[in-house]
Amino acid sequence: MDPTLARLSQIPNVTVRRDAPLSEYTRFAIGGPADIYAETARVESFLEALAVTRSSGLDYMVMGGGTNLIVSDAGFRGVMLRFVAKRLLAAGERVSCDAGAVLQDLVDFAIDRGLKGLETLAGIPGSVGAAIYGNAGAYGHSISERVRQVRFFDGERVRVFDNAECQFHYRESVFKRHKEWIVFSGELLLEPADAGALRETASGILKVRNEKFPVTMKCAGSIFKNFLLAELPSGVAARVPAHVIKEGKVPAAYFLEQVGAKGMTRGDIHVATYHANLIYNAGHGTAADLCALISELKQRVRSQFGVELEEEVQYVGFANPCSASNH
Ligand SMILES: Cc1cc2nc3c(=O)[nH]c(=O)nc-3n(C[C@H](O)[C@H](O)[C@H](O)COP(=O)(O)OP(=O)(O)OC[C@H]3O[C@@H](n4cnc5c(N)ncnc54)[C@H](O)[C@@H]3O)c2cc1C
Repeated sequence: MDPTLARLSQIPNVTVRRDAPLSEYTRFAIGGPADIYAETARVESFLEALAVTRSSGLDYMVMGGGTNLIVSDAGFRGVMLRFVAKRLLAAGERVSCDAGAVLQDLVDFAIDRGLKGLETLAGIPGSVGAAIYGNAGAYGHSISERVRQVRFFDGERVRVFDNAECQFHYRESVFKRHKEWIVFSGELLLEPADAGALRETASGILKVRNEKFPVTMKCAGSIFKNFLLAELPSGVAARVPAHVIKEGKVPAAYFLEQVGAKGMTRGDIHVATYHANLIYNAGHGTAADLCALISELKQRVRSQFGVELEEEVQYVGFANPCSASNH
């Protein structure tokens, strides 16, 4: 590992850290160290760092703001790469953004220019790159509705995909299915609107969100994806009260609530008493406890409803996602 660390540190504009505690880089504040952490704001430097990492044979992964990650207590044996370029540019109704930009900065940037289309994403933490990767969204809208192009590295070369090629779905994209691909930037197409009205929408959303997810809360937002009503087995769909269904989706929280998730705890890992799909670290929680609680919830929903909860969060340094078989 040391020769790789040395080679990475020689690349211009790359900042390298050894045994980087990922608990410091993630909002959950859980997990052990990455053997090596390397970040840069330059595409050429990033590609060089990636080439060095790949030639070393070490495992690697790319992270953004760490707001949707669960890192194992043992940490990550390999190189954690981060692309931190943050440029935002507007040309008429088009906005270009680097993957390392903070999503909220992009939302504010668009609103300040009287550009509509991102205001409902106000308050979603993390980077633009990860928002594209996971098709982040809230309040009935997702970033995919505005993405025109994405520039990324496919492991061989830098390419550009248009919206259709990104294969966006609910919290899904082609990038999520190709873990070795790295998003560098995106171009969004917005539409003119009154900045004041947009700001009002965004601040209303932020107020609600800050109550649900206090800014100091160590969590990853919703742990599980919601279900698309159309994809639920008809027998299960028939058991869901109509008022629970929102925008064609059945919240995972509905099933979790039925199985008594609210207020469950394991060590310092708690399920919020007011939201069954919100798990947080109340102090010095461990990934083992978090994983055990996730497994327990999946097991309860499986046995009571016959449906499988799927995590929205991404795992780092785990051999398998948390499941009953892990424990
Ligand atoms: C309080 C709270 C509320 C939340 N609310 C919402 C919500 O309403 N809607 C929603 O959609 N999400 C929500 N989330 C989840 C999270 O904000 C999003 O998933 C966000 O997009 C993650 O961004 P990040 O930069 O922190 O990514 P990270 O957590 O660092 O990484 C997430 C994934 O993205 C990949 N990734 C990161 N950067 C790149 C890149 N440049 N290229 C390729 N892959 C990359 C990583 O490999 C990883 O698999 C919430 C999280 C929190 C903590």
